[in-house]
Formats: sequence, structure tokens, C-alpha cells
Amino acid sequence: MELANRVKTLSPSSTLAITAKANELKKQGHDVIGLGAGEPDFNTPDYILDAAMNAMKNGHTKYTPSGGIPELKQAIADKFKTDNGLSYTPEELIVTTGAKHALYTLFQVLLNEGDDVIVPAPYWVSYTEQIKLAQGNPVIAHATEQTNFKITPEQLEATITPNTKALIINSPNNPTGMVYSREELQKLGEVCLKHGVLIVSDEIYEKLIYTDDSHVSIAELSPSLKAQTIIINGVSKSHAMTGWRIGYAAGPMEIIKPMTNLASHSTSNPTSIAQYAALAAYRSNKDSSKDMRRIFAERLELLYDLLNDIPGISCVKPKGAFYLFPNVREAMNMNGFKTVDEWVKALLEEEKVALVPGTGFGAHENVRLSYAVSTDALKEASKRIKRFVMNHQ
Ligand code: PLP
Repeated sequence: MELANRVKTLSPSSTLAITAKANELKKQGHDVIGLGAGEPDFNTPDYILDAAMNAMKNGHTKYTPSGGIPELKQAIADKFKTDNGLSYTPEELIVTTGAKHALYTLFQVLLNEGDDVIVPAPYWVSYTEQIKLAQGNPVIAHATEQTNFKITPEQLEATITPNTKALIINSPNNPTGMVYSREELQKLGEVCLKHGVLIVSDEIYEKLIYTDDSHVSIAELSPSLKAQTIIINGVSKSHAMTGWRIGYAAGPMEIIKPMTNLASHSTSNPTSIAQYAALAAYRSNKDSSKDMRRIFAERLELLYDLLNDIPGISCVKPKGAFYLFPNVREAMNMNGFKTVDEWVKALLEEEKVALVPGTGFGAHENVRLSYAVSTDALKEASKRIKRFVMNHQ
């Protein structure tokens, strides 16, 4: 059957693909260590589960307004006020089926054929595919280890053309864990204002930072930047709620309104029960990310040291999220592999360690390791990676 052109070049999410492959090997009885996961390995806190249970018992099992229940929108508005000093009205907020669908809906609303969106690489795998699905062009601005995987204002300026509609900023970043400082964001923001480029600020990892750096939203830097920014966020990573599928977007009403209209014809609404669970998450005065942060920080130190001890592997130290993104070029060369995908495949087959190749993130010499697993698993995985590198000399 002849399928739509828009799906012909669509590649499946490489992060989900590697997890599926690792699970398949596990089912066959292999002792696989999966470091591909993009989700916290913690349970959703009990008080959130209780809120969901109560929501069900209280009859909150019906359709809700497409843009989300008013109570949750208010809780999100209050969170923006407390965390960033930003004021949003309910009309400037939409609750979505995960942050992923907020981004999907945004690109559908924003892009016409031929519109460019600047995507700094390394980037989260779904940005480019979603932009293409909306008939836009992802324009990649490569950032390397030399600039701590961050793009510079000069580089941004040189990448902008009359076709540029938007820039994506993802801080803390998946896959690199890098965090833009206030000053860096200020400079990037000035370039965007000068050229009328909309900023899409994906802040899903804001609560997972392990250094003294604090999370800064580019929208909080000035009223004109707020007017030109759409913030994307959600509870998946901050409250260990990946399966609940609650995200949101905040920005100018003229963008949020058509997003809500589109949602009314696609999802109708995010799951009612999950919205009440997210409401409890934001209304609680508990810092649900605190324990995760402490444990992630310890694992980061451990894995960072273990990886840098492997010949041919070098790593810039991340500040946030829960990934390391080491450069394995030398190991790959030493081991006689031409591409990082082949190296990762052989590692999975021989040593049963699942990593995600950097290719899907726009980086051909790197791999992504998630430390959302136990310290024992991290130690064993590092031992196996080292053995693999040594055995292939
Ligand atoms: N943005 C980034 C950078 C992510 O890494 C992810 C999930 O992996 C998302 C957005 C999507 O999160 P959600 O679970 O809310 O759809």
C-alpha cells in the first residue's frame, strides 16, 4: 500500500529501539544491562498515586477541557510564578499528553513548508522528526566538546536565515547533560530578538541539576524574551511520572489557542486521572526531585570516573539530566569499527550492554549512557565496556 510521504523518511526513536532490543535479549535469558532508558528508575511518589486513586473514586474519569483542567493550569501558573517569576494566564497555558506531544502540537501549529527550525546538536531525537512531520526543515547547529556542547551566539547568528522561524533550547540537555548559564541565554536571546526568531525552550530536566548552577528559563530574562518564547515542560522527569503522560506548554495566546484547537481534534484531552495526579504533584510542598537528585548525583560521579578510566573513551562532565555522552572515537578506531552504530551493536551482542549510539542525536562519535539504573549495574556495565574495548585491540 502506498503510504503518506510524511512517514516515508520517519525513523523510529533510537532510544526506544535500543530498549526494545535489550528487553528482547533479556527475555531470551541473557544477562543484559540496559543503559538506554530515558526515564527515572524510581516509583511515582505515593501521595501522587493516592491522588490518582481519589480522582478515579470521585468520578474524574470523563473528558476534560482540551487544554487541561483549570485547577492544573492554575497550579502550573503558580509554579511558574514561584520558580521563575513568570506570570501566565490560563489562556497562555496548555496541558498536553506529555511534553513530547506539546512539542508535536507546537510544530504542527507553527510551521509551514520551508520554514527552518535551528536545532543545536547534540539534540533529543524527536525534535528533528517532529519538525519534518510538520513540513519544516531542521537546521542543525553542531556544538562539540570544545564548547561544552553548547552553541555560541556567533554560531547562532551565522545559522539564521530569512527562513528561520524558531530555535530550540534544551537546558539541561538530553543527551549531553549540559546547562546554559544566565549570561549565555541572555546572549542567545539577544540574537533571537534581533532576528525575530521564536524560542522553544524545553525545560523538562530543570529539576535535575547536580552542581551549583541553577536552572534559568530564557523567558524570565526580559518581557520581550517571554513574549518570544514557548516553554515546554512536564512531570515525567521531575516526579518520576513518565507513564502518566502529562506535559505542558506556556507562551503567547496566539500560539497556545490554535494548539488547544488542534488538541481538541487529536487527543481531546490528556488523561483526566493523570491530570489530577499532576495537580497533586504541583500542589504538594514536597520536593519530589530531592531524593532522585541526591542518588543521580552519586551515580554521575561514579560512572563519570569509571568511563574516563576506559582507554579511548573521554567524557565532558554533565551538570544535569541523567545521561553521560562520552566520545568513543578512539576506542572505535582502536577496536576496528567504522561507525558508532556498529560499535554499539557489537557491544550489545558480545557483552550484553545496551547503550544508545549518538547518531540519532546528531553526534557520530558519541554514545549515550543513562544512569537511571543501580550503582551495581553501572559498575558491571563499565567493567564489561572496558573488557570489550581491551579485547578488540
Ligand atoms: N524533551 C526531552 C529533552 C526529553 O528527553 C523528553 C523525554 O525523554 C521529552 C521532552 C518528553 O517528555 P514527556 O515524557 O513529557 O513526553
